[in-house]
Amino acid sequence: MLKLYNTLSRKKEAFGPLKGKKVNLFVCGVTPYDFTHIGHARTYIIFDMMVKYLKQKNYNVFYLQNITDIDDKIIKRAKEKRISWINLSRKFEKEYLKDMKALKVNSVTKYARATEHIKDIIIQIKRLLKKGYAYQIEDGIYYDISRFKDYGRLSRRTALAAEDAVSRIDESKQKKNKGDFCLWKFAKPGEPSWPSPWRIGRPGWHIEDTAIAEKFFGPRYDIHGGGRDLTFPHHEAEIAQMEAASGKKPLVKYWLHTGFLTVEGKKMAKSLGNFITIKDFLKKHSARLLRFIVLKNHYRSPLDYTENAIFQAEKELQRIDEFIGQIRNSIRQPADKIQNKPQISISKFQKEFNTAMEDDFNTPKALAVIFRLIRSGKTTEESLSFLEETDEFFHFIFSKKTKPKIPKDILILVELREKYRQRKNWLKSDEIRKEIIDLGYWVEDTEEETKIKKIK
Ligand SMILES: [Zn+2]
Repeated sequence: MLKLYNTLSRKKEAFGPLKGKKVNLFVCGVTPYDFTHIGHARTYIIFDMMVKYLKQKNYNVFYLQNITDIDDKIIKRAKEKRISWINLSRKFEKEYLKDMKALKVNSVTKYARATEHIKDIIIQIKRLLKKGYAYQIEDGIYYDISRFKDYGRLSRRTALAAEDAVSRIDESKQKKNKGDFCLWKFAKPGEPSWPSPWRIGRPGWHIEDTAIAEKFFGPRYDIHGGGRDLTFPHHEAEIAQMEAASGKKPLVKYWLHTGFLTVEGKKMAKSLGNFITIKDFLKKHSARLLRFIVLKNHYRSPLDYTENAIFQAEKELQRIDEFIGQIRNSIRQPADKIQNKPQISISKFQKEFNTAMEDDFNTPKALAVIFRLIRSGKTTEESLSFLEETDEFFHFIFSKKTKPKIPKDILILVELREKYRQRKNWLKSDEIRKEIIDLGYWVEDTEEETKIKKIK
């Protein structure tokens, strides 16, 4: 049974979605004003792995991510670069999606831009004003944190401590409480703006998440993920907004937060010159290596990115490659030779692997099991299938070189079938499909492509 560490309760809890096998997951997306860095990569690789794992366990996952395509940082950077905010924002959104594709992060069901949900945002703010949780002052509409008694429950901070200066808290002398945050910012001359029942302006950062999540999931959903640094004030604000507006709680059943990433023991910062973008990384190393470095650490632990860690990881990947090479050699041997070898089942390893994964996605432990399997020398087809299965969510076990190859005659049949499909000759295409299955391969048509898999 899968257990997840819930930031809200500070405990590992048995995982059970609100409704059957349906899992609604929201992860905070990017503010596209610059290239994404390896800290972003860490968070998104982790949730990609989790979603693919859940899908393998037959959960029906809807993975929603917002894109903060309007924000103070975007406006400021666009001004510096003398380009429009929308050009800047769309450019870096495109770069972000390219980076994700390179890292095989492709499990997001929907990317939702804030500016495409202005209507939903306005509806939520209206509800908060009506219920007395929000108020208007000279520069915008603000949320009154003193009205929400649970404020601070997730981050375990009191409203008073919340008065400490924190990043992205909006400053205004007219605010009722120092920790109050902006829901709708009135536009200054020349700033991008949208019409509203109050004055033209733009949404605050926190409100877009709850407006978008409610649009797709309703007022409550299963999992909310993000970097640990977002717990306060961002996620606290989300709870305050949605629970106050809907009167239902909790907003989210499981809050999952990823640990910090440091570079050679230091926080990554442009000023320190240790800022590593995903693009920089991929110039020198493979995407496979980054996925491996991320997943060989537990998602909640701090991850220190060092030259030595890269060196170690490269060596370990080599070991995996060697093992797969050995398996391929071994299963190519004539049958009588194989019969002489003791064929011990690998179910013990599979069981231990699953136990580790079900324990709050303990990937370092799960990987230790894989390395034990490697050391055991069980170079059997069973081991290969097991590794193939894990690679559906890990994406670092097989390299381009060791990826299972589909035989040429199968590929020819798949191509032929595709031709008949295009001509809508279903009878003929089904016939060929059966032929492919008889030869031991499985064909599956998705929206983008036809997938071919060896039948186990
Ligand atoms: Zn967010």
